[in-house]
This record gives sequence, structure tokens and C-alpha cells, in this order.
Amino acid sequence: ITQLYGPLNWFGNYYRQIQKNFVDMEKMLDLFKEPVEIQDIPDAKELVIKQGEVVFDRVSFAYDPRRPTLNDVSFRVAPGSTVALVGPSGSGKSTILRLLFRFYDIQQGRILIDGQDIQKVKQKSLRGVIGVVPQDTVLFNDTIRYNIRYGRPGAPDQEVEDASEAAQIHDRIMSFPEGYETKVGERGLRLSGGEKQRVAIARTLLKRPSIILLDEATSALDTRAEAALQEALLSSGRTTLVIAHRLSTIVNADLILVLKDGDIVERGPHIELMREKGVYYDMWMKQLKDERGMGGAWTAMSED
Ligand code: ATP
Repeated sequence: ITQLYGPLNWFGNYYRQIQKNFVDMEKMLDLFKEPVEIQDIPDAKELVIKQGEVVFDRVSFAYDPRRPTLNDVSFRVAPGSTVALVGPSGSGKSTILRLLFRFYDIQQGRILIDGQDIQKVKQKSLRGVIGVVPQDTVLFNDTIRYNIRYGRPGAPDQEVEDASEAAQIHDRIMSFPEGYETKVGERGLRLSGGEKQRVAIARTLLKRPSIILLDEATSALDTRAEAALQEALLSSGRTTLVIAHRLSTIVNADLILVLKDGDIVERGPHIELMREKGVYYDMWMKQLKDERGMGGAWTAMSED
């Protein structure tokens, strides 16, 4: 229980609201493992979003000073573009997303959103512009409407339904006898992994963040549904950082960063990286070989 106090203290009055948010983030971001007290600097400003550009400028970070996690990492996510993070387990993909959300402060370098150092802006304003779609979403024991509206409390019904439509969960919801009033969660209707991720996507679309962090599910959705859903998310014109497991995302990403032991070892779009015949190319070859063996989801890279 003491582990809970740290993060909740960060926010004082926002206790309840944030506590709920953490339920969502927990899985993807492993927040409670080692909570660190992150404070606003005294004259912290509101983050002002212009286009949604993200820059990592020579970022070094270690959870434990004896063991560096990211070494001098630099990259730029152009406004509205999609960057895919790939690499073996433990290479630092989730850490990059956690740092952008400022769950930890970096030891060297700067992280900038539209030119503003995220350590110098109010955390609330930072987190307000970022939408997170975790791999496994926890649903509240409440109606499905509540669960989606959670992305932007107070949003009108029509917008909740539009977001559901875009996340391709609307028809499914309408097939329940009580429609949007159906209770879901532990004590209600159990949704499948793919359906839960759609709820998470609907929530995020409703929030209308400028930046989306997506920890792509490895196998929750079938490939056809997945392609359409990617479309909905990626064409939303938002700056997107995705921990990519699926071929389609990786192929279509504007930029792929290949991580290994906290370094970016290769970068570029798919075609270029394939031409280089390096680490990325090897991952593909391994993947294709494994797929022939088992068929289905691309798990090779994350289970290295
Ligand atoms: P995966 O694909 O398995 O999710 P990843 O590429 O996302 O891996 P990270 O979760 O970013 O990798 O982890 C990078 C390194 O940092 C790993 O060695 C991991 O053990 C370590 N690490 C992650 N979280 C913590 C933490 N809270 N405290 C200490 N070390 C951590």
C-alpha cells in the first residue's frame, strides 16, 4: 500500500481522478513498480500545443545508475506522423513512452514537445495532451458508455458513439440488449481482449489528444479488423508513437526506430531498413521463419 502513496501525492486534489487513470496506465507503464516523485518546477508553464512535434534530444536515462537504460537517444517525430519502436524485449521501448509521459525525469538531454521542455511544463498540461492506449485495458465496473466517455468526461452521447464508430466497436455495442447501458468489467459483461482494446481506442479518440502512445496488442485482433483499426487511429492526423508488434504498422510507419540495449541501432522507413540488411532485416527474416512454423501474430521480436 505504501507504494500507492508516492504517485498519488503528486497530484494532491486530483487524487480520485488520477487514481482511476492509473488503473489504465498501470499495465502498460508498470507505474507502481518504482514510483518516483515528479514535481512541477515552481514557475512551470502550461504546455502549449502547436503542431504536436516530439523531440528526444540526446536523452540518457537509467532506472538504476549502475545500469543505463537509454544511451544518448535522439529522434524527432514530425507533427502528425507515426514512429514505430521495435526491438527485443528490454531494449527500452516502453521506457521511451514512460519518459515522454514524464513518469521519470531523465539524467541527460531534453525531451521537447513543440519546442517546450517537458520538465518545465505543468504535468497536468503535459498529460492532458497525450492519449495512451495500453495493451491491456482495465474496464471499470460500469456501463460501456461510462467506460468510453471516461476519455473526456462530459462529452455528449453523440460524440461517445462517433468515437465508438471510429474504433469499430459501435455495432458490437448495439448488439447487446442494453446497448450503451450494458454493464461491463469484472462484474459485468466480459469483453474480449480485442474488444477491450477497441474501447481503449474509442476512449483515446474521444479525448482528442495531440499525441498518442500506443502499445500495440500482439494478437488481440484479427488481421483484417486490425488493418481497419490502424487506419482509424493512424489517420487521425495525430502524432503517434507506437510500440509495434504488427507487420502492418511497421511497414506503414513514417519512421522506424530499432532499439537494442538502450541504443537506436537503426532508423528509417521500412524499405530503407530492409535494403540495409541489418538488425531490422534479420528481425523480419526471423519473423517470417517463425511464422511459417506457427502462423499468425508477430511475436518473434518481443519474445526475443
Ligand atoms: P518489452 O518489449 O519486454 O516490453 P521494452 O523494450 O519495452 O521491453 P523496457 O520496459 O523499456 O523494455 O525496459 C528497458 C530496461 O529497463 C530493461 O532492462 C528493464 O528490465 C529495465 N526496467 C524497466 N522498468 C524498470 C524499473 N521500473 N526499474 C528498473 N528497471 C527497469
